[in-house]
Amino acid sequence: MNDAYEKAAAALRRARRAIAVTGAGVSAESGIPTFRGAGGIWTKYPPEQYATLSAFLDHPADFWQFWHELQDSVGGVQPNPAHAALAALEQMGRLQAVITQNIDNLHQNAGSRRVIEYHGNARYVVCLDCGRRAEYSLDLRETTPPHCVCRGLIKPDVVLFGEMLSPDALVESDALANRADVVIIVGTSAQVYPAAAIPVTAKRAGAFVIEANIEPTDFTRSITDAFLEGPAGETLPKLVEMVKGEES
Ligand code: NAD
Repeated sequence: MNDAYEKAAAALRRARRAIAVTGAGVSAESGIPTFRGAGGIWTKYPPEQYATLSAFLDHPADFWQFWHELQDSVGGVQPNPAHAALAALEQMGRLQAVITQNIDNLHQNAGSRRVIEYHGNARYVVCLDCGRRAEYSLDLRETTPPHCVCRGLIKPDVVLFGEMLSPDALVESDALANRADVVIIVGTSAQVYPAAAIPVTAKRAGAFVIEANIEPTDFTRSITDAFLEGPAGETLPKLVEMVKGEES
């Protein structure tokens, strides 16, 4: 095992207020393509064009067709060992919270309890008029675009490009980052703000920065203290085993 794993495991063993910040890469091994990875549904529906608030408001029927196809393409996905490793760290008392940019609910499905979602959750829809929230279901395909009983337009409960992030998520994650002693960054390209600012805030507050990614990012070149290179479904379980080993 190399030095990066030893340093990362030692930091986590001492940690009292560790947080994880995850992006699309943590779900790649579950079969959900990342935006910047090749292939998958994003080739057919470039997110910068389709997943925008103006695309939704101007052409809600086209948007909903894209959204139903997206749901079909990720139907039945399961958490992978990277999600399980983060849930295990929380259970061991070594991780306070996961802050995620993902909308796939896989951290919760793996057993993580405190999950702060920056971009909402694709499992839910919301009425733009009355605010009623419900689970996404096949019934929504009966009329396109779907409308609420109040006749308002229904939208997936996710943050589209051009929308505000939830103020609650921003305040909670900023408070966690300012007090963090360790931050584990997993599978994020450091390109999407303000989520990319959280690890920087934590570093400024004195946190030890662990990063798990298949390739170096802007974080690696600036703030990372221990870089675990490779698929997170392999690197994170190894790290958890080392933390357990050191604790026993
Ligand atoms: P991104 O697509 O920009 O970057 C993904 C990162 O993951 C890259 O740095 C890549 O090297 C890394 N990666 C790929 N496979 C990996 C693996 N097996 N293990 C470790 N790292 C791996 O994703 P982003 O930074 O999260 O930002 C894009 C936006 O896309 C986010 O805002 C998010 O909301 C959205 N998104 C979400 C999902 C999802 O919910 N699963 C999927 C695609 C995109």
